[in-house]
Amino acid sequence: MGYRSWQEELQEQHRERKKAGLWRYRRTLGSAQQAFVELDGQWLTNFSSNDYLGLASHPALESGVSSSVGQWGGGAGASHLVCGHQSLHQSLESRLADFVGAERAVLFSNGYMANLAMNTVFSHKRDLLLHDRLNHASLIDGARLSAATFKRYRHCDITHAQKIILAEDFKRLVMVTDGVFSMDGDVAPLCGLKALADQNGGLLCVDDAHGFAVLGRQGAGVLSGAGMKPAGNILMMGTLSKALGGYGAFVAGDEVFVEHLIQFARTYTYTTALPPTVVSSNIAALELVRRDHAKLYSCVFGLVDQFKRACMELSLPLMNSDTPIQPILIGDEVAATSISRRLQAQGFLVAAIRTPTVPKRQARLRITLTASHTSFQVEALVAALAEVLSCSYAPLRRA
Ligand SMILES: *Cc1c(COP(=O)(O)O)cnc(C)c1O
Repeated sequence: MGYRSWQEELQEQHRERKKAGLWRYRRTLGSAQQAFVELDGQWLTNFSSNDYLGLASHPALESGVSSSVGQWGGGAGASHLVCGHQSLHQSLESRLADFVGAERAVLFSNGYMANLAMNTVFSHKRDLLLHDRLNHASLIDGARLSAATFKRYRHCDITHAQKIILAEDFKRLVMVTDGVFSMDGDVAPLCGLKALADQNGGLLCVDDAHGFAVLGRQGAGVLSGAGMKPAGNILMMGTLSKALGGYGAFVAGDEVFVEHLIQFARTYTYTTALPPTVVSSNIAALELVRRDHAKLYSCVFGLVDQFKRACMELSLPLMNSDTPIQPILIGDEVAATSISRRLQAQGFLVAAIRTPTVPKRQARLRITLTASHTSFQVEALVAALAEVLSCSYAPLRRA
């Protein structure tokens, strides 16, 4: 007997994925990334991007890119350790280090690769790599590449983390957490984690993809919000693709850690440096945040307050988040997908997030607010949510 064909086998897997409500579609936008986007000829108010400060299509970033092309060209041409590291990259690294209060920062191509580096470079055989259970997939993949023992504690549960540390026999401890949890919007208990790391001679790595440029002192991130900075036994990873509206990532910390990454991280060594156009866009965005953070912050957090208050009045099931990530828990995967589709019919782009991005039966609408939304758009979204969730009479039901 011959083998069953690849086509048949893969198509069967596709049928199963569709039946479970887990099929993923790419939405092809016909416009720039902004609060109002075109999708298949329909204009939608976009509540799904990570463009928290509304910078992705800001004119300052565009002019950063166009002024760069003339001087620096289109591509870096080589990896950082060969000849792709230009003074433009150097300048962005110094600015980032200064911005987050670190001795030094090193650029990576993206957050995914920076996280692979952070997890593999500092932990080895017989070390303990200890993660929050809801950490981002890129951190988990990094842990899978490390030879260290990989354990996860219950979400934000310091006591559980401590229990694991006591039960394990290890040489070195590396603790890793999202700063703001990407699918929940809550913030890690950084002071407790730092204390645990201190007590055990450990290193604390914070993935601040969603806090960098948004939270903390002038947008320096969740660490600064908790009165800390990436120094001593703390490392911070930040992405340039979310609030900065560009692309790329960095790890910041003391000189010796950053130099260690440059020497040993395979996702640093074996890849081309970021294109100078992208670096220029990031520099322009960072300058903008430095100048206008207070204004941008009050725009987006004004809308977060408005959204939360309106949802509470209608008893919509909000999660425990004070950040611009405001998920609404639905549970069932098929239901979440259908609600998302109904919102789209009403003019709103709200993605349904399903397993394996979140745990099974915890599908949710991941609503994100940005500085470029208007208060009217938020009001309209809440009205649409109330209708599709059949909560329009919630205040009556409560009474
Ligand atoms: C988006 C994200 C990343 C990956 O960053 P990219 O630059 O998009 O590769 C890493 N960690 C978290 C928590 C994220 O949300």
